[in-house]
Amino acid sequence: MDRYSIIDKKFKREIVLLKSYPCAWGKCSFCDYIEDNTEDPRQMIDVNRDVLSNVDGRYKRLEVINSGSVFEIDRETLNLIKKISDELSIEELVFEAHWMYRNRLDEIREFFPKQNIFFKTGIETFDDNFRNKILKKGILYDDLSEVYTKFDSVCLMVGIKGQTKDMIRRDIELALKYFKRATINVFNDNSTDIKRDEKLVRWFLEEFSSLKDENKVEVLVNITDFGVGEL
Ligand code: SF4
Repeated sequence: MDRYSIIDKKFKREIVLLKSYPCAWGKCSFCDYIEDNTEDPRQMIDVNRDVLSNVDGRYKRLEVINSGSVFEIDRETLNLIKKISDELSIEELVFEAHWMYRNRLDEIREFFPKQNIFFKTGIETFDDNFRNKILKKGILYDDLSEVYTKFDSVCLMVGIKGQTKDMIRRDIELALKYFKRATINVFNDNSTDIKRDEKLVRWFLEEFSSLKDENKVEVLVNITDFGVGEL
């Protein structure tokens, strides 16, 4: 599995896929990448030390993903990220956090006082019913401002059976309007019961082909398009 990559197009950064404790939410119906999680702290730090040794700080921005939330990364690894970031004068750290941690984000900011922290969250869709009933995300809010005042960026998922074109259009419109950045993941079938809608994917890739020129948005047609993970 590739765990280190350099993204040199939009939002230039180094990216690492670290091993962490199991995702505390762990209920999303489309997710099987939590299988990378472990309960063994020795295994975590051994893998993570090796992966983090690749970081050279070339873009002063490091994204850390871990098949879960930053809060599930062990303390020894967090200390190592801090040490490397300080030594390489990294200015911005990008982390993911599930909605359940929305009121704890400052803990991470306080832990990394020298870096700006940029938070992403996997909202997947702004359609409440699809997000919670089908995708089982556990993200309930009354007003979108509750999301965009906490998180800088959202990850959207497109191309799932049951999704509609209108849903996808609205998701992209809201992501562009209210968030600094967005990552759009095209769904690929995996070991879960959630299935890809090929027709919808083809429509999306054609209808939104201009997103490749939109600086705020990254479209991942394959889950490994950031150069980390495995198919
Ligand atoms: S929060 Fe993320 S890692 Fe956890 S189950 Fe959902 S998609 Fe998977």
